[in-house]
Amino acid sequence: MASVCGMTIENFANNFVCDLVAYEPGKPIEETARELGLDPASIVKVASNENPLGPAPMALDAIRGAAEQMHIYPDGGGYKLRTALAAKNDLNFENVILGNGSNEIIELLCHSFLNKNAALIAAEHAFVVYKLMATLFGANYVEVPDPNFVHDLDAMAAAVTDETRLLFIANPNNPTGTIVDEETIDRFMAKVPDHVVVVFDEAYHEFLTNAPDTLKYVREGRNVIVLRTFSKAYGLAGLRIGYGLGSPQVVNILQKARQPFNTNEVAQRAALASLDDVDHVNATVENNAKGLAFYEVAFQEMGLEYVPSVANFILVNVRGGDYVFAEMLKQGVIVRAMRGYKLPDWVRISIGTEKENDRCLSVLKGVLSSKGSV
Ligand SMILES: *Cc1c(COP(=O)(O)O)cnc(C)c1O
Repeated sequence: MASVCGMTIENFANNFVCDLVAYEPGKPIEETARELGLDPASIVKVASNENPLGPAPMALDAIRGAAEQMHIYPDGGGYKLRTALAAKNDLNFENVILGNGSNEIIELLCHSFLNKNAALIAAEHAFVVYKLMATLFGANYVEVPDPNFVHDLDAMAAAVTDETRLLFIANPNNPTGTIVDEETIDRFMAKVPDHVVVVFDEAYHEFLTNAPDTLKYVREGRNVIVLRTFSKAYGLAGLRIGYGLGSPQVVNILQKARQPFNTNEVAQRAALASLDDVDHVNATVENNAKGLAFYEVAFQEMGLEYVPSVANFILVNVRGGDYVFAEMLKQGVIVRAMRGYKLPDWVRISIGTEKENDRCLSVLKGVLSSKGSV
């Protein structure tokens, strides 16, 4: 190891970076297949809330069509896609920012608003990236308890101090799949002061039947940004494209913090085409609703505790998440263990196709019965 007077390079890096535990994504199919000596096609990955139906057919056409233009830089301003997103959401072009996944916009928010004297507020079982980012920027991470896995917006509002800059509401939240309703949000927004940017992370928005209207706060010019993505219902996780819908003053700041070509041309074109492929989104949402119902019934029959979900995944208490993850993996089914969320008894299962759900459930049942807890 390279060292200076017995010290390693780590001694010279920022502590808040070295002390981070890197984000652990769902285990990739190829890696699992290699390790188990299995055919990748035989593996069921229900670990990262991806769309089991794949990208939209219209997006696939756009991706193929884009190939020959790859010697040209992308449209750094994202004109066509931002215009389409603004129109779809009854907003203006200036309200829209594109990101390399909505995760990049989370990072841009932290870049723009956090420092060692600033704080980010999130719920105890919120999406883990908020904590990683707050830590990365040396800021104070304030975690508010979420009884029954539901964000407690009254407690979150009460946690705001002079140093609070960002407050994240994942709605629905990942990994819990729970939602807060519009009335609760309205009560919260009446209390939150103007020095705080409220971030509604709506990665699973398309799956909702009765989505709370948060864009009204964007139209009112509040210090709000709504994050959405093409990674989930639109099935473009591999292309990395998401967006933020915010008031112009918030979006302007973020535009300064991003790289000039932060989203690539293939992603922009595929995303634009996806917006028109309404049939694909509808099929995705329908498949998801069936899959959620399938798991809920099964878990009830098996006597397993689970969190009722409105998203495309479900959190279930298997009384040993690491064990169940590892045993299911051996049989080619990849779920997500939840120790990283301080839920060591639980796994999160993404909704798959009917066939994938059947396979996942039968493997889970087998693992639990040989473990002797069902
Ligand atoms: C999946 C997810 C995202 C989306 O990430 P991308 O970077 O757009 O792929 C954002 N927030 C939450 C809560 C998520 O679960």
